[in-house]
Amino acid sequence: MKPRVVIIGGGIIGLCTAWYCCRKGFEVWLLERFDQQRDGCSFGNAGMIVPSHFIPLAAPGMVALGLKWMWRPDSPFYIRPRWDRELIRWGLRFWRAANHRRIAQVAPLLRDLNLASRECFLELAALPGMDAGLVTKGILMLCQSEHGLAEEIKIAEQARALGLEAEVLDAAQVSRLNPGLSLNIHGAVLYPRDCHLVPERFMQGLQRLVQQAGVTCLWRAHVHSWAVSGARIRAVRLQNGREIAGDSFVLCAGVWSTELVRPLGLSLPMQAGKGYSLTLPAPAQHPQMGCICTEARVAVTPMNGSLRVGGTMELSGLDERVNPIRVQGIIRSFCRYFPAFAPSHFEGLQPWVGLRPCSPDGLPYLGRPRAWENLWVATGHAMMGLSLGPISGQILAQAIAGESPRRDLSLLAPDRYPST
Ligand SMILES: Cc1cc2nc3c(=O)[nH]c(=O)nc-3n(C[C@H](O)[C@H](O)[C@H](O)COP(=O)(O)OP(=O)(O)OC[C@H]3O[C@@H](n4cnc5c(N)ncnc54)[C@H](O)[C@@H]3O)c2cc1C
Repeated sequence: MKPRVVIIGGGIIGLCTAWYCCRKGFEVWLLERFDQQRDGCSFGNAGMIVPSHFIPLAAPGMVALGLKWMWRPDSPFYIRPRWDRELIRWGLRFWRAANHRRIAQVAPLLRDLNLASRECFLELAALPGMDAGLVTKGILMLCQSEHGLAEEIKIAEQARALGLEAEVLDAAQVSRLNPGLSLNIHGAVLYPRDCHLVPERFMQGLQRLVQQAGVTCLWRAHVHSWAVSGARIRAVRLQNGREIAGDSFVLCAGVWSTELVRPLGLSLPMQAGKGYSLTLPAPAQHPQMGCICTEARVAVTPMNGSLRVGGTMELSGLDERVNPIRVQGIIRSFCRYFPAFAPSHFEGLQPWVGLRPCSPDGLPYLGRPRAWENLWVATGHAMMGLSLGPISGQILAQAIAGESPRRDLSLLAPDRYPST
C-alpha cells in the first residue's frame, strides 16, 4: 500500500504540494474547508512570479516607512491600532529581522527558490489542460520620482550581484516596450526573468490536474484538531467529527495555520497581511508586462484582456472586511501612474480581498518541526506565495519521500520561533 499524505488547505501551497506528492507516488488526500469554487488569497492576487523579489518584507527601512504610513488611512501599509500581544511580538521580531546582514543571508536563498519555482511554472503551464495565461516578458518596477528610481537602481545592482538580470530604463524606453500605453513615470527597472499569469486559472487548472492524477479532494472538510500518538500525528479530526488517518501530514492552511498547530505546542507567528485587488474587465489600455508602481506599492497585471490592480498591506487581524478608504488609495495611486485611467473606471467593481500569511522575518515556514516525526509545514509565504508555491510543494514532496534536501533550508525552519 502506498503511504498516505494528508494535506490541510487547498490554496496554492496545498495544491502544489498535492501535485508533487502525487508525482512521488504517494496516496494523497487534500482537505479544504471551503468549496471547490472558493476564492481565497491564492485566487485574486496579482499573479506575479518574481525572482526579482529576493528581499523579504522584513527589510531595512520598512519599519520607518511603516510608522510613517501608519497614520495615513489610504497608505500602502497600515496597522489597525490595538492592544494585541501577538502583534507586538510579531512587530519586534520583524524589526529584529529587518537589517542588512540578514538580507545578505536570505537573498541568495530567495533568488534560488524563486528561480527554481519559475522553472516549475514553465513545466506546469505546459501540461495538457492547463491554460494559466503565463507570460514570460518580465516585470517592470515603475518609478515616478528621481529618488524612487535611484532606490530601485540600488536594488537592481544588488540583483545583478546575485546574477539576476535587471535593466534600468528611461520613460521613453518603457514606452517603446509598451506601445500605446500612457505612463506618468520617471523611469523603471525591468526584471526580464519575472513572469505573470492568471492565478485563478492556474488554481483551477492545477485543481483539475491533481484530481485527474488521483488526489482525493475533500471539500468543506474543516480540520479542527489532531489525534496524536507519541511524537506522531495519527489523524486529523474534522469539524463534523470524521477522522482522516495518514502517514504524513502537511499543514498548508495559510494564515489560519497558527491557531491550528497551537495545540501541538508549535509556534508559527503570523499576521494576516490584508490586500485588495480590482479587475477591470475591458481596459482601454494595458501594459505588455506586469508592473509594480514602486512608490505606491501597487501591482498592475494584464490578464488576458483584463487588467488587475492590487495592493496594500493591512495588519488588522483575521478580518476580511473591505476598507473602502484603502481601496480608493490603490485606485488613486494607479491612476497617477497610468493617466489614461480615472477612478470612475472602477465604479461598480467589487474589490477582492486576500489575507497574506506573513511571518515576522518575511520568510516561509517550510519543513518538519523537530518535535513531530510526520508533520510538515508549508506556510508564511507573505507576498510571494504564488511565486514560491511550486517549489515549496516540490521541496516538501522530496522531503516526505526521504530525499536529502538540495539546498540548506535551515532559515525556513518551521520551529525557528520558540513556543511560549
Ligand atoms: C493583493 C495581493 C496580491 C498578491 N500578489 C501576489 C503575487 O503577485 N505573487 C505572489 O507570489 N504572491 C502574491 N500574493 C500573495 C499570495 O497570494 C499568498 O502568499 C498565497 O496565496 C498564500 O497561499 P497559501 O496556500 O499559503 O494560503 P491560502 O491561499 O490562504 O490557502 C490556505 C487554504 O487553507 C484553507 N484552510 C484554512 N484553515 C483550514 C482548516 N482548518 N481546514 C481545512 N482548510 C483550511 C483555507 O480555506 C485556504 O483555502 C498576493 C496577495 C495579495 C493579498
